[in-house]
Amino acid sequence: MEKILLKVGEIFLRKQNRSFFENALLNNIKHKILKLGDFYVKSCGSVLEISCKNELDNNLDILMPHMHEIFGISLYMKAIVVKKEIESIKKVAIEILKNINTSNFKIETKRSDKNFFMKSPQISSEIGGFIVDNLQIKAEMKDPEIILNIEIRKEAAYLYTTTHPGAGGLPAGTSGRGLVLFSGGIDSPVASYMILKRGLDLICVHFASPPYTSELAKIKVQKLIEKLKKFNKNIILYVVNLTKIQEEIHKKCKHELFTIISRRIMNKISEKIAQKERCYCLISGESLGQVASQTVRAIFCTNENINMPIFRPLIGMDKSEIVKIAKNIGTFDISIEPYDDCCSIFSPKHPRTKPLLKFVKIDENKLENLTDMIDISVENAHIFY
Ligand code: ATP
Ligand code: MG
Repeated sequence: MEKILLKVGEIFLRKQNRSFFENALLNNIKHKILKLGDFYVKSCGSVLEISCKNELDNNLDILMPHMHEIFGISLYMKAIVVKKEIESIKKVAIEILKNINTSNFKIETKRSDKNFFMKSPQISSEIGGFIVDNLQIKAEMKDPEIILNIEIRKEAAYLYTTTHPGAGGLPAGTSGRGLVLFSGGIDSPVASYMILKRGLDLICVHFASPPYTSELAKIKVQKLIEKLKKFNKNIILYVVNLTKIQEEIHKKCKHELFTIISRRIMNKISEKIAQKERCYCLISGESLGQVASQTVRAIFCTNENINMPIFRPLIGMDKSEIVKIAKNIGTFDISIEPYDDCCSIFSPKHPRTKPLLKFVKIDENKLENLTDMIDISVENAHIFY
């Protein structure tokens, strides 16, 4: 019989509240696998096991491409499960290695069931000897082409050759809620992924300035969020209209401060939505020095009017590192669809890279009724579940 084994990561180290994390993880797995077929999952210590409800189904392969979408898992593998008897283990071990084109192998045994009558090295040498006697392959201890793992657990023996790294992180929904400023570019979906990975549910806020920005930009954002929902289903999108505010900034403020002032107002609106939605942090896709509005001095100015912590998971990353993650999580191809962001429509030719807060505030104060405009934007935001 085959099963998928999932090894839990960091939550294994938790002491007092481990069951809270374990239950969340089990529920997240159930939610994912039940949509895909007749499967069930059960917890066995530091390992979770997924099986087919009907043993004859044997269609676990449908699940394998989805296992990296589950936060809280450090490693996963498909294993063959047999009775804890040496003869049964030998039979399965030889079947597995017969079907693999290799000239050498190594057996690695772990015995978590300390009551089993043989110790791990004994099991490895017993099974290894049997393979060498019956197949035309050598045992190779130093640099084997194939490692056949045998785990002797309380319930049974598990045999597997291939392991896959899991997504890591903490189970979805175990860290509360955050609000991400979600542009639809390459960076903010990656920043969202990295924060989803630490167990937060997300409110995504996208600012649009129609008719300067297109309806297609909004659809693009919705497509990106659908991709992220593979990792955590609890993501809500707010679309906020920034047209009036940006027209005012364009009219009244120095052009080189346009992006900085827009960003301060976007942060303020986001903070208000965050308070309404019981979020305790903002998240942005900023990376230090990537563009003029992301120098230290610019970030100092755009951060100054906000009282919530702003997390910037990409702050120390190069664009190439961010792109690599975007490709891995499937957002890259959507992110590069060419629709203007509201930050680029009136963007100045020569933005200030070292803005002074004093002058930013002087210009921002030229905007009459800014508080009202902010409140109206929050009230009129469109919500998509
Ligand atoms: P991205 O690739 O995510 O668009 P970027 O490198 O283009 O980022 P900026 O356009 O300067 O950088 O944006 C920096 C951050 O500001 C974004 O990662 C996002 O968090 C936020 N942001 C920018 N534009 C918007 C928008 N239209 N709606 C919501 N947040 C935005
Ligand atoms: Mg952008």
